[in-house]
Amino acid sequence: MTKMFLPDGKTEWAGVLGWPVSHSLSPAIHNSWLTEHNINAVYLPLPVRPEGLKTVIAALIETGCVGINVTIPHKEVVIPLLYELHPDAKRIGAVNTIVFNEGKPIGYNTDAYGFWKGIENRLPEERRNKAVVLGAGGAARAVVVALIDAGFKEIVITNRTADKAQNLVQLGKQIKIGAWEERALFLAGADLLVNTTSLGMKGQDALILSLEKLPITAVVCDIVYKPLITPLLAEAQKRGNPIVDGLNMLLFQAQKSFHLWFDINPVVDETLRRKLLSLLEAV
Ligand code: NAP
Repeated sequence: MTKMFLPDGKTEWAGVLGWPVSHSLSPAIHNSWLTEHNINAVYLPLPVRPEGLKTVIAALIETGCVGINVTIPHKEVVIPLLYELHPDAKRIGAVNTIVFNEGKPIGYNTDAYGFWKGIENRLPEERRNKAVVLGAGGAARAVVVALIDAGFKEIVITNRTADKAQNLVQLGKQIKIGAWEERALFLAGADLLVNTTSLGMKGQDALILSLEKLPITAVVCDIVYKPLITPLLAEAQKRGNPIVDGLNMLLFQAQKSFHLWFDINPVVDETLRRKLLSLLEAV
C-alpha cells in the first residue's frame, strides 16, 4: 500500500496556475516524482482567474513557494510580472515555469525542450530537412524554436489566421508560411508533420487534412493528448507513418520544470505514462 504523505512545518510546495486548471495532469506527474524521490513537498492546482493573476504572483513571492507552472490563459500575460526571463522564454514569448529564486520570480519555458526530448530519437540528423507545423499559437512557437535548434533546414508553418503565422517568421530564416487552405500540398517531401492546433482535441472541431502527399517515412506528431491517439495519429498510423503522441511533450516539459525546482532529473517511464493514461480516460 502507498504510504500517505503528511505535510509538516518543513514541507515545500509548487503548483500549476491556470484558469481553468482542474483538468491538468501536472499534479499527478509532479506528485509521483516527489513521492518517488522522497522529497518533502507537494504540488497543487491553483485556479486563478485572469484578473487575479497580479495579486497571486505577488502573494506567491511571500509564501515560500518553490515555483509554479503557468498554463492557459496566463503564459504570455505573466511576463511583465516577472523579475527576469530565461532566453528561451524570451524567444518563445511565453512562460510555462516560474522559479522563485530568493523571492524573485524568474520565467522559463520548458515546452520547446519537452517537445524535442519527446521526439528526437525518431529524427536522426539526416532526417531533419523539412518540417510542417500546423498552427501558430503559443505551443507552435515553442515547437518551432525546438525545430530551429534541432537544425531543421525548412520549416513550413500554416495557420488559419495568416497574420499569426507571419509573426513567427522572425524566429528564423528557415521559416516559410503557407496558406491554410493549401496545407495538404506542403506535406510533400516532409520529414515531420506536427499538429499544434487544438483541432482533433475532444470537444473541438476535427482536423481536415489529406496525408496523401506525406512520405510514409515522415514522423507525425500531435501535441493534443486528449484523445491520446487523435484522428490524425490514427490515420498516420494506418498508412504506416511513425507517430508520436502529445503525452511525450507534456511529460518532458514537466521533467525540466521539476529539475529547475528540485535539482533532480526525474525519469519518464512507462509506469508514469500508464498512470496518466488511466487519468485521461477518467476525465
Ligand atoms: P493557442 O495559442 O490558443 O493556439 C491555438 C491554435 O489552434 C491556433 O493556431 C489556432 O488558429 C488553431 N485553431 C483553433 N481552432 C481552429 C479551427 N477551428 N480551425 C483552424 N485552426 C484552429 O493554444 P496553444 O497553447 O498553442 O495550444 C494548442 C493545442 O496544443 C491545445 O490543444 C493544447 O492542449 C495543446 N498543447 C499540448 C501541450 C503538450 O504538452 N502536449 C503543450 C501545450 C499545448 P488561429 O490562430 O487561426 O486561431
